[in-house]
Amino acid sequence: RTVYVNGTYLPEEEAKVSVFDRGFLFADGVYEVTSVLDGKLIDFPGHARRLQRSLDELGMSSPVGMDVLLTIHRDLIAKNDLSEGMIYLQITRGAPSDRDFVFPDPETTQPTLVLFTQAKGLIDSPAARTGLKVISIDDIRWGRRDIKTVQLLYPSMGKMMAKAAGADDAWMVENGFVTEGTSNNAYIVSGNRIVTRNLGNEILHGITRAAVLQFAREAQMEVEERPFSIDEAKEADEAFITSASTFVMPVVAIDGVSLGDGTPGPVARRLREIYIEQSRKAAI
Ligand code: PLP
Repeated sequence: RTVYVNGTYLPEEEAKVSVFDRGFLFADGVYEVTSVLDGKLIDFPGHARRLQRSLDELGMSSPVGMDVLLTIHRDLIAKNDLSEGMIYLQITRGAPSDRDFVFPDPETTQPTLVLFTQAKGLIDSPAARTGLKVISIDDIRWGRRDIKTVQLLYPSMGKMMAKAAGADDAWMVENGFVTEGTSNNAYIVSGNRIVTRNLGNEILHGITRAAVLQFAREAQMEVEERPFSIDEAKEADEAFITSASTFVMPVVAIDGVSLGDGTPGPVARRLREIYIEQSRKAAI
């Protein structure tokens, strides 16, 4: 695989960053994952806008402009002959000459930019046919989940807790209300009404979420953006998650409680179809 590090395309074995990189030492960095279908990028402008917002919130900047980032994405697709999968992008506050809690001077410390491809079948996914089982876990993450930082230890532990419980993923719960999945936004459906947590500092502002809610409204589905409790979720007709790498994925059980007949619901299946069709059309 050819990867990108700070201005250079290299074989992955040769790509290196400093041991003093603040991403490595302090999780002082942000990232984006953009999916690729037919060798094209899904919603690159949305990911670029959120990246800029994450950088702004942390007082960081990209070493290159968004136009150059688009070119790097496209170069990596070409160099790796990627037709379906994802591109991972990470920007950290760079590698000063020592470990120090105080941010380095941006005049002397350049941010570190890394991108790589991950080939993966996104459309023909077995999980889309069977649906996911989730468990609920306490949301003990920090209070700025709207910033897409590389601090992913707790979500990673959440996936392990789900695995240990024989489930696929975990929904995080704060004060009785679902915030989001470990790496996705969470939704429940009752009748024709879709409920998902409103935007705020408590959740990541999913790029897939924004697109799916728009498609749902255009398809005359009712959308309510508000907190919903884990108890309400267990009584719902159906549920699903969204993320760049899973699109729309049905959820069929929460904490061992089956939703509906325990198979992917019609709203989730329809939204998955619409999302794939529309985002494929708009891919660049
Ligand atoms: N919420 C969390 C915590 C995530 O990590 C992600 C994606 O990685 C999402 C939501 C979904 O965001 P997007 O649709 O932009 O991939």
